[in-house]
This record gives sequence, C-alpha cells and structure tokens, in this order.
Amino acid sequence: MKRCAALAVFLLFLTGLSGCARTQAAEATFFAMDTVMSARVWHGAGGAADAQAVQSLVTELEQTLSVTDERSELYRLNADGQAELSADTLNILQQTLALSARTGGALDPTLYPAVRLWGFTTGDYRVPSEAEIAEAMAAAGTEHVSIDGSTVTLTDGAMLDFGAVAKGYAAQKAADELAARGAAAAVLSLGGNVQTLGSKPDGTPWKIDVRDPFDGTRAAVTLSLTGSHAVVTSGGYQRYFEEDGVRYSHIFDPETGAPARSGLASVTVAADDGLLADGLSTALYVMGLDAAADFWRASDDFEAVLITDGGEIFVTEGLSGSVSGAEVQVIGR
Ligand code: ADP
Ligand code: MG
Repeated sequence: MKRCAALAVFLLFLTGLSGCARTQAAEATFFAMDTVMSARVWHGAGGAADAQAVQSLVTELEQTLSVTDERSELYRLNADGQAELSADTLNILQQTLALSARTGGALDPTLYPAVRLWGFTTGDYRVPSEAEIAEAMAAAGTEHVSIDGSTVTLTDGAMLDFGAVAKGYAAQKAADELAARGAAAAVLSLGGNVQTLGSKPDGTPWKIDVRDPFDGTRAAVTLSLTGSHAVVTSGGYQRYFEEDGVRYSHIFDPETGAPARSGLASVTVAADDGLLADGLSTALYVMGLDAAADFWRASDDFEAVLITDGGEIFVTEGLSGSVSGAEVQVIGR
C-alpha cells in the first residue's frame, strides 16, 4: 500500500488504483501539451515512479517544443532564425523532414506562420485574406530549413511547428523509457495518441477505441491489438472554429495555406513507432481517401482506419481482422 500512497502524492490527478495490490498496475492522469494524458503501467516494482517518469518526460518535451513559450528551444529558433538544438529536437526535426519528403509534403513542419495567422495556437481565430495567406506561405517549405551538425538555420522568415508529431514522439520516448525500466506492460493515452507496450498481463488484446468523429461520446470502431503499437488519430473535430457556418480545422493543406478539406473526418494510423503514426495520421488526413489508400499500397510500415465526411469507414487490409463495432470497407493491396 505504500506505493499506492506515494503515487497519490506524485500525481496531479489520480484516476484509479484499481487492483494496485493485485495486478501491480499504476495509473496516472495529468495535463500536458494542451490535452489530457494518462499512463497505466504494469511493473513488478516501482509503479508510481514509472508513471511519474512518463509525466516528467512529456512535460520536459513540452517545454522544449512549445511554439508559444518564450523560454522554449523551438521558440528561440523561430525567433532568431538559428539555434543549436538538443538531441531530442534535432531527432524530431530529422524524422519529420524525412516523413515530409516521403508524404510529398503533405506533412510540413514549416506551416506555422499560416497556422498562427488563422489563430490556431493563439486562440484569435479568424479567416485571413488571400494576400495575408500568400505572405505567410512565402515562408513555408522545407527548403527553408538547413542542418549543419546540431545547428539549424531557418531562412526567409520560416518557422517550425512540431504540433503534428510531438505527442507521437513523446509517447514513443515514454514507452521506450518504460521498457528500459523493465515495465512488463503499459498503455499510454496522450490526447488521441495511444501507445501500447508489451502484452496485457491478463492475456487479452489491447482494446483501442477509434472515436466517432461525429459523436464524441461513442467509438466508431474498436481495434483489438496485441503487443507494442502506436495508434494515433488526427481529426478535424479535435480543434476548430466556425465562421459563417463553415468549420475550419487545425490540420492545414500545404498547397493552400488553409485548413484541409479532403473529404475525411478522421484518420487513425497504427504503426510500430509513435512519431511515424502521428505524422502519417496528419499527412493522410491532408491527402484524402484515394491518395491515402495509394500511399498505403506503396508502404509496408503502417495500417489505417479512414472515416469520410459522409460517415463511411475504411480500413486497410492488415487491420480487417482486428476491427469491430461497425460495418467497414476494406482497402486491399
Ligand atoms: P492533434 O494535435 O490534434 O493530435 P495532428 O497530429 O494532426 O493533431 O497535428 C495538428 C497540428 O500540427 C496543428 O495544430 C498544427 O500545429 C500542425 N499542422 C497542421 N497542419 C499540418 C501539416 N499539414 N503538416 C504538419 N503540421 C501541421
Ligand atoms: Mg499528427
């Protein structure tokens, strides 16, 4: 019981200690990166310290990667146009640039000037003029980013934003840390990003709900997966504003500098790596159903659930045996 008490002291909110004595699972809920996060860890010893490690790690990354906190590393890079980056930030940048190239630019970490112009990240939402959008987009494009050792230079007023991949990177780093600490199993939920580690101690599969984009109270489908996975959803419903009856969401189309309108309401990607799943869920949302299906056919490192604005649910072949809860259409090779 001592461990349970220590946990209560450590964590911001304590959601449950169910089975603390019997199953050695520690569960923590906290707020970071603008969203509610939870960690459930099964471990032979030190469950509270493990859950605390996840929170510390995520909070530290948030302080490094924030685009609005003047003390953050990324804020300094964006303000000065040049900075020496820490290993984490450099790692994220390199992986994101590679994924940007692979997705034909659908994932683009240089959209920040446009994202900010529309009021995302500041909260001053508005529909800007064509001229303002053109000006913001003049600074976009990964050709404005150069890396020399650990020094990164941004040219022509370019600014970076890792909003599309930060939670995925954080979840992966947390899962790796838990594995290194000898955790038997864990499930992390970082605001739409689920990361599983190992197998559930009771032998049943992990059950991961894919939220119904039209009704936040229910799941559209549920995935049953065993082992370690990252399952990440990007959806227009997650952050948006409305003006004159039109909904503008926080996922941007790099070709227009405006919120993407691809006919998709949400995309969920399952992959081995957190940053990959997070980056791809954003990129596939931008691409739309047909281009996303073609992209999947040319890949071998992820599966996806795609829900259209009309409510149709598509799943790639590799998930067809793992999905339950609704009628789905299978995308084949
Ligand atoms: P969420 O943060 O809700 O999980 P995403 O992972 O899809 O959603 O990331 C969206 C965030 O990424 C936006 O808030 C914005 O900061 C940034 N962003 C928007 N469009 C793009 C894009 N096409 N490529 C890269 N980053 C983007
Ligand atoms: Mg993403």
